[in-house]
Amino acid sequence: MSVQQPWAFAIARGGKTVSNQALPTAYRGPLLVHASLRVDLKACDSPLIRAAGWDPRDPLATIGAITAVAELEDVCSAAAVRDGSCDCGPWSERGFHHWHLTAVRPLPRPIVALGRTDLWQPHPTLVNEVETMFATAALNS
Ligand SMILES: [Zn+2]
Repeated sequence: MSVQQPWAFAIARGGKTVSNQALPTAYRGPLLVHASLRVDLKACDSPLIRAAGWDPRDPLATIGAITAVAELEDVCSAAAVRDGSCDCGPWSERGFHHWHLTAVRPLPRPIVALGRTDLWQPHPTLVNEVETMFATAALNS
């Protein structure tokens, strides 16, 4: 999935477990969190993002790169309908589908990749690169 910064950082580092998406998905399972090339500049000053420890100098604050791996566990669409509401917490926004992420693992360093606005299938080479990076980091820790 592609997410604009600083939201991709908040997922990778800041404990953001809900991603607000325009569309639902039937997909459940592992996904790569990709920081898209566009940045949500207004959000960089929001209290939520500051509380998440937003640091533009952090390598995972980059754009156009994979920053984390997560599991898409569930999607809540209750707040996406008119006058709908739900209990998805401070990261959830009205008018969006709430993609609930678990088992978030930030990458040791970002991997440059092209993304798309919708949910996309990463190339096996990219998945391989992510897995190798985690395996190497585990060996060195
Ligand atoms: Zn919700």
